[in-house]
Amino acid sequence: MASSPCTDRVVGAILASWRYDISGISPEMRQDYEQHLTECNRCRARLKFHRSLDVSLVALTALSVFFSLFALAVLRHIKPLEHVAFNVFGLDIIDTYHMLVSAAVAGVVFSLIAFVLVLTATPVPSYLGGIAAERAKMIEERLPAAIKSLRPR
Ligand SMILES: [Zn+2]
Repeated sequence: MASSPCTDRVVGAILASWRYDISGISPEMRQDYEQHLTECNRCRARLKFHRSLDVSLVALTALSVFFSLFALAVLRHIKPLEHVAFNVFGLDIIDTYHMLVSAAVAGVVFSLIAFVLVLTATPVPSYLGGIAAERAKMIEERLPAAIKSLRPR
């Protein structure tokens, strides 16, 4: 990935400081950076790496929200847990249940916060939105002429 050096170190350093996210700057300013990204293999590879990192962060935090909710749902139904807590740890059933539920609730809250932070701090929404728009355009181009003429312009 870092085998070929950056073709313009100044632009490369600016892009690196933004984590290769140019979605926040005006379209006129963006042109130079977009051109650099098409010319420079190194920065293009870094851009791809950072965006996939962002997407995996979003996926991980979303999974974390899901599993915390799942843990909460499981706690409502599992009785053997009470047995383990009572006999093995000698804990009070109600206390253990409350402890586990609060842990699960805290998990839901923290992972939701992490999820929102990732969404606001990274360009993932616009990145995924861009991909979706591109796909929609491709599908539209493939539509038969008869269907295309039905669509309002
Ligand atoms: Zn570069």
